[in-house]
Amino acid sequence: MMMPSALPELAARRQATILIVDDAADNLAVLRKLMSQQGYQTFVASNGERALQIARRVQPDLILLDVVMPGMDGFETCRQLKNHAATQGIPVVFMSARTEADDVVAGFDLGAVDYISKPLRLAEVGARVRSQLQIRSRSENQGEQAERLRTIVNNMAEGLLIIEADGRIQFTNPACDKYLGYREGELAGRSIGELLNPLVAREYLDYFERYGAAPETAHSHGTREVIIRHCDGRSVCMDLTLTPMYLRQPLFIGLLHDITHHKLSEDALQRAAMVDPLTKIANRRHFDGFLEKEWQRALRSGQPLSLVVLDVDHFKLYNDTLGHPAGDACLAQVAQAVSSHALRPTDLAARYGGEEFVLLFAETDADSAHLLAEAIRAHIEALQLPHPRSPTSPWITVSIGVSTIHPNQFDSTEALFVAADRAMYVAKEGGRNQVRANKPDSAALDAVQALMG
Ligand code: GH3
Ligand code: MG
Ligand code: MG
Repeated sequence: MMMPSALPELAARRQATILIVDDAADNLAVLRKLMSQQGYQTFVASNGERALQIARRVQPDLILLDVVMPGMDGFETCRQLKNHAATQGIPVVFMSARTEADDVVAGFDLGAVDYISKPLRLAEVGARVRSQLQIRSRSENQGEQAERLRTIVNNMAEGLLIIEADGRIQFTNPACDKYLGYREGELAGRSIGELLNPLVAREYLDYFERYGAAPETAHSHGTREVIIRHCDGRSVCMDLTLTPMYLRQPLFIGLLHDITHHKLSEDALQRAAMVDPLTKIANRRHFDGFLEKEWQRALRSGQPLSLVVLDVDHFKLYNDTLGHPAGDACLAQVAQAVSSHALRPTDLAARYGGEEFVLLFAETDADSAHLLAEAIRAHIEALQLPHPRSPTSPWITVSIGVSTIHPNQFDSTEALFVAADRAMYVAKEGGRNQVRANKPDSAALDAVQALMG
């Protein structure tokens, strides 16, 4: 097969198909031969009705259509082609000996793309057909490209916004609508300012304005994390990348990238930083922060604050006897028992170090705290975790110190800790597996006494 060099893309994709319509058999023969030589596939029809049938069935790339034919003439055939969705896109080239301006104009009015005069000059027919096929192939390519872009924009995971220099949203893609909870087209026409907090919105609008006034100075606004208002009023966290672009007017392409899941893992990291990995209860850092907050609250409310300090008895012996891994498992069980007594939102149990645990009970007086501590002590003894070599009990036990304070501005959390620790050592001295309480030395009392003395 001969490949016409002027049509490389088209020929490469598929052979172009030409429908030739003429009532004169010798014209049909000559044109068919010419088109075949050019490498086209040809169909012929000797009247209008037949031409319509073939056009619908084979969808030719071009129709060469004689104007003067018995029965349905070329103009009427063209009209019917253009009236039918299946055939209206096929380019029609008229061929006629009637080359009066009126005829030619009538042909173009009917939607023809060219008008060739008879008698035919074959080289001219070949050139005109080639040129029409090229135009069609190019516009098909453009259509395909536009379609491909549309598919990308509609299916991309990023939200896409096209924003005008005054902040008005011109277009959003489905991902953007979905991220922000809007229906298709609902965001178009609104201002970007409606989606952002006023300060951030002001900054973007200033940037738009600057660029609108001097497009040549524009630079990408880069990517930044913004809080965007969801349609339902929620705030969602997104990365927004803005890039300026000039398309007859200054425009901005905004790309939205959902980072909520990054935020979630950040939260998870933060949580991890507050949890003791062995026992899964709060760690010392968490406890210190919590105590500080409750302390401030107690200062304002005048409510008592109780601290419980708890240390596992003869734990070194336990480790030495049963091994470090058994010691770890034992600590995890003690921790669970301890933290099961921190029931209110203002209570917190934590592993403070080694085999030492602490609990804070806010709004809890000394008597209540003592009862709570005794319950914890009994709970751990009742676990009956065997401690083969303990000199004081067959089971794992704990010694507990309790201290209660009504904080005032002269006191410190240290004083509370020291008092509870001392009570705990008294419990150890007293034979372990018991609860002791102690009042913190009141700095306020000391201060008053110092003044008096
Ligand atoms: P007392 O009754 O006076 O508290 O005696 P004790 O043996 O419990 O006290 P001591 O402070 O001498 O020993 C604490 C032991 O706890 C020593 C250490 O090996 C052990 N320990 C601390 N942290 C861990 C841990 O994370 N896992 C294990 N298995 N053992 C730990
Ligand atoms: Mg101990
Ligand atoms: Mg200890």
